[in-house]
Amino acid sequence: MKEAILKLKKEKNAVILSHHYQSLAIKEISDYVGDSLEMSKIAAKLDCDMIVLCGVHFMAESAKILAPDKKVLFPNADAGCPMADMVTKDRLEMLKEQHPDAVVVTYVNSSAEVKAISDICCTSSNATKIVKSIESKEIIVVPDQNLGHYVQTMCPEKTIHLWKGFCPTHHRVTKMDVLKVKAENSDAVLYAHPECRPEVLEMADFIGTTAQIIEACKISEDAHIIIGTEKGVVDTLEKLLPHKRFTLMDTHMICKNMKKTTLADVYEVLKHETGEIFVDELVADAARSAIIKMMERS
Ligand code: SF4
Repeated sequence: MKEAILKLKKEKNAVILSHHYQSLAIKEISDYVGDSLEMSKIAAKLDCDMIVLCGVHFMAESAKILAPDKKVLFPNADAGCPMADMVTKDRLEMLKEQHPDAVVVTYVNSSAEVKAISDICCTSSNATKIVKSIESKEIIVVPDQNLGHYVQTMCPEKTIHLWKGFCPTHHRVTKMDVLKVKAENSDAVLYAHPECRPEVLEMADFIGTTAQIIEACKISEDAHIIIGTEKGVVDTLEKLLPHKRFTLMDTHMICKNMKKTTLADVYEVLKHETGEIFVDELVADAARSAIIKMMERS
């Protein structure tokens, strides 16, 4: 199956972009593996005819927004992001009416429609930098309450209105779970993602996005690290750094949606050019402006 995909990819002048949370099999056939920000930057610069985006739906939309002239294929239509679905255009418009002076900073884990009515986007790696770069004191951060709370601690000079969204994969882990895993692995340090609860981040030795966690593991001298993000990162780290030990913060930290894409799905969309992503032109233009503003400031 892998060989067949690589052959088709060449024939169709396609590039496969994958998120770190994808399965190892998918990452092995990918041209690029990255976090949301890396994937957006790569999609904007690619020289190819089509992009196969292995991740969740909003990522494929972002790739289409940033590479409108390319065919973007999304291998598994069921792979959505529950957190992105927790904010809708209508509900965000209502919140904007309640806080007319606030600048809306939207996490890229959101639909194109929501991005289109936002002032600027952010990722978990640049959220603090983006919020600090805004003149207004009042900010709305959607949809992740934990990322919003983390940014508030880093930017005490701002008043941040939080949205009550969360990532089920990260939010499920409680302080008690972390105390337990730390007690069982007393020689380990904890690296956690900002989508984790505030009380979990308080116990972390390092806070960063998937890409930042991977980089930190490469350069740190820590020999045993508890990884507070999705299991796919542990899979990557175990391959990259076999001399170090990695423990997943909670064995349930597996994003079901990220794991829906299979090699057979990738083969099917490449072979038949199905699963194409379309974004309304006006929505795409407005969303692109919010994403590009983010890229310029990060
Ligand atoms: S890990 Fe969380 S934020 Fe990422 S795609 Fe899965 S549900 Fe969405």
